[in-house]
Amino acid sequence: MAKQILIIGGGVIGTMHALRLVKRGYRVVQIDRDPVPLQASVRNFGLVWVGGRRAGEELEEALLARELWDEVAADVRDLSLRSNGSLTIARTTAEVKVMEQSMALPDAEARGWQLLSAEEARQINPAVRGKFEAALYCSKDAAVEPAHLLHNIRHHLLAHDNYSWVPNTEIVDVNEGPTGPVAFAATGEMFHGDFALVCPGADHKSLFGAQLAESPIRRVRLQMMSTVPLGEELTTSVGDGDSMRYYPAYDVPALREMPPQDPIAAGAKMQLLMVQRTDGTLTIGDTHEYDEPFDIFLREPEYDYLIDVASDILGRPLPKVARRWDGVYSQRTDGAICERTHISKTIVVVTGPGGRGNSLAPAIAENTVRILGF
Ligand SMILES: Cc1cc2nc3c(=O)[nH]c(=O)nc-3n(C[C@H](O)[C@H](O)[C@H](O)COP(=O)(O)OP(=O)(O)OC[C@H]3O[C@@H](n4cnc5c(N)ncnc54)[C@H](O)[C@@H]3O)c2cc1C
Repeated sequence: MAKQILIIGGGVIGTMHALRLVKRGYRVVQIDRDPVPLQASVRNFGLVWVGGRRAGEELEEALLARELWDEVAADVRDLSLRSNGSLTIARTTAEVKVMEQSMALPDAEARGWQLLSAEEARQINPAVRGKFEAALYCSKDAAVEPAHLLHNIRHHLLAHDNYSWVPNTEIVDVNEGPTGPVAFAATGEMFHGDFALVCPGADHKSLFGAQLAESPIRRVRLQMMSTVPLGEELTTSVGDGDSMRYYPAYDVPALREMPPQDPIAAGAKMQLLMVQRTDGTLTIGDTHEYDEPFDIFLREPEYDYLIDVASDILGRPLPKVARRWDGVYSQRTDGAICERTHISKTIVVVTGPGGRGNSLAPAIAENTVRILGF
């Protein structure tokens, strides 16, 4: 009989592991405390962002992930993957300089970068009508719909006899039993497997809190919003020049010569990212908060700033903001791709991909499977 793998966590990391393991013929029982996943994986932009990844291992992981996303899209009906590319918009000459120097980096081609004039950028994405100097197009970037992605993958998995989905089930302990790990639910129910992968996202405390407290991971809180439909197509995802301060790809001298960021943006470690959903609405963010306890409030000055930048790039008033929310992700503090904490021979925690978890999830799962020899 095929080995049974318990996966605790229904977010994109747990789900991509489930997908790869079911494809390899393992039996998978995937468990989540909520009726449907409600955390980072459904609160995000849905960006599959390759262009901004750090040179070396991180870029390789992102390129692998991008290929695997296509493979997943071929397997899962209505996955919602769109190869829409992205435009990073330079509104100042200092930002253009960063782009020009970045284009000379040895991996610029692998990233699918092209430096475009404002006119050329508008040929790709006519909705960016604002005044700007240039744009960096990344053909490798893509997007998925966080509201549908996990549901559609689960629907695909449930058509297999070797997959089961167990919602509304809080796992309070996972022990190494005589024949493999046993997961104990708050209800008293027990789940037996040959291996357990714990993919708890930013919940660093409920399971293996002591071990995770020793790991180089932290939690990061972000503010997000979405508008009513734009009324026209935003054909690519969009980033502002500040995104080059946060994505590590742009490691060039001109980056260090950039003037300071706007004080509100600097205070909340902000960049503008904007992507259109299939219903026409725009998802826009973000901020980064690192110190806990996190603020209980959503802060308006940061939203006002994002509305200004987005309107400036679109060259028109931003459609009405309809929803605001926050989300928390788990991030390795040393830049490593993710955290894989080996609790015992058959219990491993996988988390900490940071703001790249959606982008890299298929490759993280593939590498877990390879590392653990499944
Ligand atoms: C606002 C925001 C925007 C982002 N934008 C992007 C983006 O555009 N592109 C990108 O690549 N990344 C993005 N990220 C990062 C990405 O969303 C995360 O890295 C990724 O979703 C993490 O997935 P996960 O499965 O590890 O965690 P989660 O999505 O948090 O899932 C963990 C799941 O485990 C369950 N769970 C935890 N403990 C237990 C337990 N004891 N018992 C049962 N169930 C349990 C939880 O209920 C949850 O459903 C963003 C993150 C945020 C917050």
